[in-house]
Amino acid sequence: MNTCIECGSRIVGRTDKKFCNGSCRNAYHNERNREELNSVRKTNRILGRNRKILAELKSEGIQRVHRKVLQALGFSFKHFTAYEEFANYGLCPVIYDEVYHVQEGGMVLFFSAAESFKQSA
Ligand SMILES: [Zn+2]
Repeated sequence: MNTCIECGSRIVGRTDKKFCNGSCRNAYHNERNREELNSVRKTNRILGRNRKILAELKSEGIQRVHRKVLQALGFSFKHFTAYEEFANYGLCPVIYDEVYHVQEGGMVLFFSAAESFKQSA
């Protein structure tokens, strides 16, 4: 005997049915979509905060801080949008247009991808 995975009601008819009716099927998929959207939003918020932290430090003339300082500001080293190769630093994590490079001893250097491109051009 199967039960509906949305409401738990007994399902009559075919044994491969997962839902008792169309509205339960819709409710189930809407909820799944909402969870997916929430998880995308959460990641976007973290990426946005990471980018903003680097941009604000740079706007204050700061280009290098210890990784602990970034962490204290709420920076997540697990979230970035890409890895890109930079002539001076090798493969660096990129957050949209901001690039950072963790140096020995935990100092983190950051710059914008566009600036770096201009320098090397
Ligand atoms: Zn149901």
